[in-house]
Amino acid sequence: MINRVLEYRASFDAAHRLLNHGGRCRNLHGHTYHVSIRIEAALKDEVFVIDFFRFKEILNAYDHVVLCWTEDHQLIRFCREENGDVLVLPKQTSIENLSGHIAVAVARSLEVEWKEVQVNLQETEKGSCASVVRPEDI
Ligand SMILES: [Zn+2]
Repeated sequence: MINRVLEYRASFDAAHRLLNHGGRCRNLHGHTYHVSIRIEAALKDEVFVIDFFRFKEILNAYDHVVLCWTEDHQLIRFCREENGDVLVLPKQTSIENLSGHIAVAVARSLEVEWKEVQVNLQETEKGSCASVVRPEDI
């Protein structure tokens, strides 16, 4: 069996805020997030590690939405009253948590024997975070 390492890059735009943050990140603002996904998998007779179309489907959930922590009731209510698209997440919407959320979503969509999923999420020119998920983590 040959190990394969698949990489995929994309970007998406989203708004968020960090509730109770001591600095300016407490204010609603937006980013163009650049995401790099790396999957290590061992193929048997499968054609793909994952069809690239699946990445588009997964990342579409994050694109042009307001990313809200489930505890940010005020922002969730406001967006829904305005008919805005909201993605409610179980943790604060830091790049650490967002990259982890995307990594788990990618890992759960895999139908091959995979070893590692790494998602590097770049929020600004200077700041990024990588999350690494292995099968025993989910
Ligand atoms: Zn931000």
